[in-house]
Amino acid sequence: MRNALGLMLASVVTAVVITGVWFWTSSPRADAAAPQTVAARKAEPLPAPAAAKPALRDDVEITASLSKPAPAPAPVPAAQPVRSTCANPDALGVSRVVVIDTTGGPGFGFLQYKQFDFLTDKEIVLTFDDGPWPTTPAVLKALSDECTKGLFFPVGKHTTYHPEILKQVASAGHTIGSHTWSHAHLDSKKLTEQQVREEIEKGFSAVKMALGAAPAPFFRFPGLAHTQPALGYLASRNISMFSVDVDSNDFKSSGPDQVIQNVMTKLDKQGKGVILMHDLQKHTAIALPTLLRRLKAGGYKVVQMKAKEQLETLPEYDAMLVKDQKVPAVASRPISSVVQTVSQ
Ligand SMILES: [Zn+2]
Repeated sequence: MRNALGLMLASVVTAVVITGVWFWTSSPRADAAAPQTVAARKAEPLPAPAAAKPALRDDVEITASLSKPAPAPAPVPAAQPVRSTCANPDALGVSRVVVIDTTGGPGFGFLQYKQFDFLTDKEIVLTFDDGPWPTTPAVLKALSDECTKGLFFPVGKHTTYHPEILKQVASAGHTIGSHTWSHAHLDSKKLTEQQVREEIEKGFSAVKMALGAAPAPFFRFPGLAHTQPALGYLASRNISMFSVDVDSNDFKSSGPDQVIQNVMTKLDKQGKGVILMHDLQKHTAIALPTLLRRLKAGGYKVVQMKAKEQLETLPEYDAMLVKDQKVPAVASRPISSVVQTVSQ
């Protein structure tokens, strides 16, 4: 009896293995199944599953354009309606999406860069610095609940600590630039020109390593501490720099209420602008649901900024980062191409 059972079990196992091998090698659905597995695993934040598919689809489109035409991937039609659905009929939303041609490094935010006054009255851009951090998912949840989008400037090192959180930011459809590798103030006399360049480039390479996709060529100086040579370098790389119009001063606020007060008071005076916040600040994460409601009530409209073209990171800095992390280069392969569920 035990032998018979053993035999039956062995046949079942063999059948599963054969099916698995067949599925892996010959089934056309094997590739389509992989991203779904990954998307399902990341289901904990609300915005992730909805937008994860378009992000992956972008990858597929890029790959497809480089190789021979492939049959239309199955998830595309299903992903479209999910992306445009907003469950909150009274959401703040996104009133306008602009695409920035970053050629020559145009600057935004009137505190430092006054060339491009593209926002009309009551228009705002929500920006978040210093993540990704464990506080970031709460920020993403608040933005998702209001069906709105922001612009994130992560710190390279933080990106290596929490790559999965940065992936959530990308999956939710927000724009991601960079805020240097280690949050160094680039006007420091201690930094050589080469070190300044490394802070900038490694910051972007870190984002690319975490996402497996190129970041937007959008940059914000830590402490807004720009220098003429650094501005020149960014311009030569066609990277846009971001300053600020409305500073939340959240990093020195006494609590969430003060963050809200700071933003609303300045905004009501100025009428529009790029708002600087920090997704790393707990007060900001707590304040955001109420702040977004106040912005809606005040008639403010969110503009999402995207890049016309993504930044091509420099291979030597990508390599430097991989070496620093002491991980094999193969670590940049997507999980779905390394580990695949063949039986459950
Ligand atoms: Zn910062």
